[in-house]
Amino acid sequence: MAPILFSIGMAFLFPKGFQKLTSSLWILFIVLACTAVVFFGGGTKLAYTHAFYIPIVLAGISFNSVGGLIIGMLSGFILGPWMPADIAANQMQPLESWVVRLFFFTLIGGIVGYGCQVLKSFLLEVKKKLLTDPITELPNLKGLEDLVERQGLTNRKYAIVVLHVDHLKYIVRALGQASVEEILRQIRYQLTPHLNSLAFPILLDQESFALFIYQDTDVPKVIETCRHLIKNEFIIESIPIFTEFNYGVAFKEADDHILDVVRKAKLAAEKSKRFSAPYSIFQKEDDSYSKRNLQLIHDLSHTIGNKKLQLFYQPKIDLKTGAIIGVEALSRWNHPQFGAIPPNEFINLIEGTLLINNYTKWMIHSALKQVSQWHKNGLKLQIALNFSMKNFYDPSVLQELHATRRNLGIPPESIEIEVTENAVASNIKTVADILATLRDTGIKIAVDDFGTGQSSLQYLFELPIDTIKIDKIFIDQMITNSAAEAIVRSAVLLAHELNLQAVAEGVESEKELRFLQKIGCDQGQGYFFAKPMTAEFLTQWISARESQNAKS
Ligand code: C2E
Ligand code: CA
Ligand code: CA
Repeated sequence: MAPILFSIGMAFLFPKGFQKLTSSLWILFIVLACTAVVFFGGGTKLAYTHAFYIPIVLAGISFNSVGGLIIGMLSGFILGPWMPADIAANQMQPLESWVVRLFFFTLIGGIVGYGCQVLKSFLLEVKKKLLTDPITELPNLKGLEDLVERQGLTNRKYAIVVLHVDHLKYIVRALGQASVEEILRQIRYQLTPHLNSLAFPILLDQESFALFIYQDTDVPKVIETCRHLIKNEFIIESIPIFTEFNYGVAFKEADDHILDVVRKAKLAAEKSKRFSAPYSIFQKEDDSYSKRNLQLIHDLSHTIGNKKLQLFYQPKIDLKTGAIIGVEALSRWNHPQFGAIPPNEFINLIEGTLLINNYTKWMIHSALKQVSQWHKNGLKLQIALNFSMKNFYDPSVLQELHATRRNLGIPPESIEIEVTENAVASNIKTVADILATLRDTGIKIAVDDFGTGQSSLQYLFELPIDTIKIDKIFIDQMITNSAAEAIVRSAVLLAHELNLQAVAEGVESEKELRFLQKIGCDQGQGYFFAKPMTAEFLTQWISARESQNAKS
């Protein structure tokens, strides 16, 4: 009931097109009805003439002061000299009676009309503010929704292009919100004057614009135009700032709502970033991909601590003696619906959430418990744990590491933390300080995937480290590719010059092993020795290897 009353109210307050005609007819009908009431009620003296205020007020509401004045006057004249005061007694109205009434009807019509005019412009102003982004003065998402509805485009074919501005998070942190607002404004002015006929731009959020594109427009051409119009460099407070743009396209399908199309275009923009593509078009799989990601994050939060999530261990071998020095803990998740999920995939996902800290605490606890068990059984293995950058920002993760180690009586030298170069890249100073305090306790630090990051050499003197793990991409190719061979050879030399241990990961063949031994690489890890396996298998593998060594 309330929505019906509201829409009738809105139709009278803001009549559009055909509604204007119907509300005029309604008002005239009510005037006629009131006239009939007065006439057949016996005259102005006997009938209730104030009923005329109904059409007068309605006219004021619908057609502002002009409407109020006209219907006020019309009503005053209808109840003018020709309308008897008492029809039965054949008594006419005195002049002052109908003149005063005419005056009041007109006055009330005018006042109501003017009042409504003021109210309407206030409401329109509020609505405009709600639908417009104050920084760029472009419509916002609500504004786009409103536009599509008002222009009757809901059922037409169209496309949405989302233009995501990269690096803004870092800029806001470094230079503040005002700088980001300035960049958004500059983009808006680079974009809008030239796009008018091609697309309709809106500001989606603090990091992205969206373009509404009519069906018959050439979408790749619009993107090309944008790429041409928007510069990658902005000067803010005399500082040159570099940004990149990811474009995602979604076409309206069947009964998609505009918000669905925008959501799909956003997913496509994320995809274009993931694949470093100039732009990406939304495809059905993208939806299932992002839903699957959401499900994986949810499911993992319930899986930590249960048997579906397990640690496997891969041995690290001393290349001079062939002894097993230690193991690296690598996670394995057997998802009930999707099967085995590679650690790269789910670690990347949860790195964007706080779950990574709970996960790492679980990993520390399980791995250290296992190592303590091995130590008790006389197997003095070292354990390598992979850490994410995010873990260094939550002190409780490191507390968990220290407390568990102490409780289980594991010597600190038996623990090695592996950090990847990419993880370090974003804040080397903070990470260096944290790693230094860790290393002071006796725990060892390794740089994982050495050689793949951008500042490998810088890390060697900025980070307090014990080991470099040469990435398997170089080990894979060092036999056949002379550049890869030179890189591995130099990495080993460099490690030794700096008093560090060199570990080769991904050793898959005897040829590779021989070469690594020849150049003096300290340790090796890879399928040639053993694949990652459960703790139980690893224990059996070690005793089998030892008894074989004893025989030979
Ligand atoms: P990573 O730390 O570089 O681990 C080495 C990866 O190479 C492992 O893959 C291992 O199974 C694989 N590998 C070892 N030897 C060979 C070989 O000879 N040939 C080939 N082709 N591959 C080999 P996995 O277990 O799939 O792990 C992938 C990545 O996931 C790891 O790379 C690590 O970055 C991450 N990860 C795994 N577990 C954890 C964890 O508990 N925490 C964190 N933060 N990351 C983890
Ligand atoms: Ca590792
Ligand atoms: Ca690695």
